[in-house]
Amino acid sequence: MVDLRTQYHSLKADIDKAVLDALDATQFILGPNVKQLEEEVSQSLAVPHVISCASGTDALHLALAALGIGPGDEVITTPFTFIATAEAIAYVGATPVFVDIDARTFNLDLAQVRSAITPKTKAVIAVHLFGQPADVHGLMEACCKDNLYLIEDCAQSFGATVGGKPTGGFGVMGCFSFFPSKNLGGYGDGGAVTTLTEAHKQELLALRNHGSHVRYYHDVIGYNSRLDELQAAILRVKLQHIERFNTERRRVAHRYNEKLAGLPVTTPFEDGLGRHVFHQYTILTDHREKISSFLGEKKIASAVYYPVPLHRQKAFGDRFAGLSLPVAESVSQRCLSLPIYPEMTNDQVDEVAAAVRDALRS
Ligand SMILES: *Cc1c(COP(=O)(O)O)cnc(C)c1O
Repeated sequence: MVDLRTQYHSLKADIDKAVLDALDATQFILGPNVKQLEEEVSQSLAVPHVISCASGTDALHLALAALGIGPGDEVITTPFTFIATAEAIAYVGATPVFVDIDARTFNLDLAQVRSAITPKTKAVIAVHLFGQPADVHGLMEACCKDNLYLIEDCAQSFGATVGGKPTGGFGVMGCFSFFPSKNLGGYGDGGAVTTLTEAHKQELLALRNHGSHVRYYHDVIGYNSRLDELQAAILRVKLQHIERFNTERRRVAHRYNEKLAGLPVTTPFEDGLGRHVFHQYTILTDHREKISSFLGEKKIASAVYYPVPLHRQKAFGDRFAGLSLPVAESVSQRCLSLPIYPEMTNDQVDEVAAAVRDALRS
């Protein structure tokens, strides 16, 4: 699905130097690269504060904890996302409330969010799925009206913008993942939380480091969730190229659109509310098995993100057995993601598109 090797080789000299320099400096925990990465990401995303942490999952968990969300609180989110979005809600003991998605963008359906708000609702977690910004202005308005926190899950949307402003700067907090395959990915786990206020920043700084601002003085029970210095060094190199990476992803996506036109598949819908950065290129088709096995025979990868909506996951037992979310259920039956990464050449895109065409003919 992604070719991490080609990207590493194109940046090898800089990445190797950054890693070797960090090894030589031997400041492995909360060292200078972590601090500088936080500053550079805050510049890049035009947000006042960035607090790095150990993963995107932790970013979501720390955000909810810092906002004091816990047992008895409801958090509205989408069922069509990676499990981490809902795991974080469960970690703090709050109740996930799943509402259906928009059939074209796969992001939260604003009307469904509005009608799910109860006196117990404390927050909405909006995922910018596959790199397409959610309707942040609509969500901000809904959250403002009922005094809810809007938390953005930006794991798939580094560099996506709305009105020129990057995702992560709309909600009270934005949660990012630096998992290797993400648009800005390290060579291991990593994550970050963006926030607008100094008070939230201080909460997050303590929570990621054993509840401590001053070594061996612990104000709250926190976590060990720091970003690794070596990952920070690598991410600083890659951050310099993120604009180009995202532009190249858009090139690949638009070429797919062109080459798949006329086939009985639905190509990704861009709603025009913001700039889609195509973390995934996901089509809808009634012939998913046929296409994926045909691609497999040709040694072309494809993947189903996501085959089971979260309200149907075994992890939740029968808690949501009575809940029907027809759009998410239907999309999860028909979605298929094709390979996409910045270094993918036009010829490679054409080859995948031709294989999809042949699969549908066969
Ligand atoms: C990847 C991802 C996460 C979790 O990030 P990790 O760094 O793997 O913990 C959370 N939410 C979404 C939408 C993701 O795609």
